[in-house]
Amino acid sequence: MGIQQIDVYDTTLRYTEPFRISSGASTEARNVVVKLTTDYGVVGWGESSPSKRVTGETVETVMRVLDRLSPKLIRKCPLRIEQVVDLMDQTVKANPAAKAAIDMALFDVLGKTAEKPLFMLLGGFRTEVVSDLTLGIKTPSQMARDARRAVAHGFKSLKVKLGTDPTEDVERVRMIRKAVGEQIDLRVDANQGWTVIRAIKVLNKIDKFRIHFAEQPVCADDVQGLKKVRCDSPIPIMADESVHSPEDALRLIEMEAIDLINIKLMKCGGILKGRKIAEIAEAAGIPCMIGCMSESGIGIAAAAHLAAGLRNIRYADLDSDLLLSDKLVTKGGVGLEDSARVFSRSCGLGVDQINEGHLGKPARKYS
Ligand code: MG
Repeated sequence: MGIQQIDVYDTTLRYTEPFRISSGASTEARNVVVKLTTDYGVVGWGESSPSKRVTGETVETVMRVLDRLSPKLIRKCPLRIEQVVDLMDQTVKANPAAKAAIDMALFDVLGKTAEKPLFMLLGGFRTEVVSDLTLGIKTPSQMARDARRAVAHGFKSLKVKLGTDPTEDVERVRMIRKAVGEQIDLRVDANQGWTVIRAIKVLNKIDKFRIHFAEQPVCADDVQGLKKVRCDSPIPIMADESVHSPEDALRLIEMEAIDLINIKLMKCGGILKGRKIAEIAEAAGIPCMIGCMSESGIGIAAAAHLAAGLRNIRYADLDSDLLLSDKLVTKGGVGLEDSARVFSRSCGLGVDQINEGHLGKPARKYS
């Protein structure tokens, strides 16, 4: 089997409402979709949702990287994923979000060729993935209202974005806990918004509201700071922006800087590398969450399949497709039942139909 054609689409997807975190607000996501066709006629879909803030990538850099990678991938066997990913790494350094789109499409082809849903080929540990819903930054009372709505919808875990003013951050958590009661699992994410001292102060104040874990309290590069926060925080600390690759995971685990890791396919380069992070972490007794950037149903399906496959991906924050009003997947993909991301019976990623009208014409075609 060989890769015969790669079509690349540049697509813009609107959020239902502006989504705000400590570093800024978004009203839309601009993503890149990859359609990979093999000489057996099997089609694999992949998606890149680049974040300048996290990996330094934009749609323009993703396009340039795919310009360099795609000609080298034509006629390569799509089932030899480790080999193709190595070829991509040898050709272009870093740029994980660009590579993730190709990686997902390869795994989609693998599943379709084996005639199995992908999570069964990745280990099949669970058959659905319970996700939290993320509450973007608003006033404390608005966030409490959003939290009540999410719980009414069936979500049992909420991820609360923090990282602005410490007094307001504490108030956000207090009002949300009061609004949702004691049974709901609350996680917080400061997206690097605090200093070390501020993080320790806020985390000690919100501990009484029963917080499961706190994501990326301080700057991604400040690993010593992360370790210091971990030492003085009553709440377990999860690395997000600090861990991109399997190498980052190993280094932070060795430094004893973290309790948990948030894996994102856009940071690590796809399913293959995401699996390596989960396995390194598992050997060290560090549980993982799977998260997302602004992927539509294609990228979310890829992440959900990986999470379902592996025992050590215990938590999931897979909600970006739910926050977008423009939908790329019109049939199949992962559904939502209460708070569980559920799979269709289809093979591979299970994405049965793409909204090709929204995608429009490919920006690039390689064959
Ligand atoms: Mg995060």
